[in-house]
Amino acid sequence: MNEAPDNRNRIRESERIAEDQNHAYEDCERLKTLIRGGKYRLDCGHHVTLNHHFGNNIAIINGKDLKIICTLCLY
Ligand SMILES: [Zn+2]
Repeated sequence: MNEAPDNRNRIRESERIAEDQNHAYEDCERLKTLIRGGKYRLDCGHHVTLNHHFGNNIAIINGKDLKIICTLCLY
């Protein structure tokens, strides 16, 4: 009854917030474009050649200073 318009407004507001949050993030393809084909010395001391079938896999350790290591050194 009287609540229906309020609920509709709340739904619209939550949809707007979700849309804003979605726009705050770039697509992962952008990150791939930046690193594609690179050869790097990692923080663990190992090397990686990206887009190479037998190359190391890498992990990004998040924090104030990013740390990028190979997955062999991850655990
Ligand atoms: Zn390593």
